[in-house]
Amino acid sequence: MGDVTITRVEEVLEKGFRREMLFPGIDLAIYDEHPVLRDFYDAESGQVWSSIHSWLVQANGLNILVDTCSGNGKARALPRFQRFHMLNLPFMENLGRTGLKAEDIDIVFCTHLHIDHVGWNTRREGDRWVPAFPNARYVFGRREFAHWTEGEGPRIFPENVAVIEDSVLPVVEAGLVDFVDDGDEIAPGLRVEAAPGHTPTQLILKHDRPGSAFVISADCIHQPVQVYAPHLNSCFCEDQESARTTRRALLDHCADTGALLLPMHFGPPHAGRVKRTGSGFAFESGAAAPA
Ligand SMILES: [Zn+2]
Repeated sequence: MGDVTITRVEEVLEKGFRREMLFPGIDLAIYDEHPVLRDFYDAESGQVWSSIHSWLVQANGLNILVDTCSGNGKARALPRFQRFHMLNLPFMENLGRTGLKAEDIDIVFCTHLHIDHVGWNTRREGDRWVPAFPNARYVFGRREFAHWTEGEGPRIFPENVAVIEDSVLPVVEAGLVDFVDDGDEIAPGLRVEAAPGHTPTQLILKHDRPGSAFVISADCIHQPVQVYAPHLNSCFCEDQESARTTRRALLDHCADTGALLLPMHFGPPHAGRVKRTGSGFAFESGAAAPA
């Protein structure tokens, strides 16, 4: 898009949670009302197609990796986390298919510090977790980091504490972390914005240049069904009301500017555009250039 190249680097694409577990209170009839949604779940099992990936943004000569999936070899033997336990997935090999090595990544930006967004920050070396991208600056939200180290995060989501210990603190202790706040740029033209709800301190990443506008939307939105039902929160959203407000603002932004929506968990084709309809929004899946 313009002078920016964006590549999806996949960790895994699999059947995820059942729709009624991921979205408490959902009326499944909505999937029949909007045919585009049929591609995003498995009809037999009722599970959503769930991707876990990084977005590699290449701009201004920089290689920027946004969110780092779940990681390999991490002990996650907790009921809700079984799908993340002791993984052995070819994420680094998939990054290699872009022509880059771990050493080539200049910036790692984590939108928030949940289990499936920080895992490849570190890799196992002997009995230690070491930074997996040794030449990168790791960029975290200042308030998001505080949420997990001195705030309410561990009480709200105790399963995520081990994640902070093995995938966040080692890069902090290595001196590789820069903290950012709402409105800061992590690179020229790439601005973070507060997106409270899924975590109270989550950030999204916006690029506003006409013709190449996009937004990497963190976990403001997990599945395309939420374009049609913006009030629908996932069971992992920590602050219910602000999650809804933030999701509506994101959809307004995409519809008003034509920005490409780049979420973290949509099934194929993983990205799309948002159009305004009489009663709300519609989703056009695919990464077609703006009209
Ligand atoms: Zn996530």
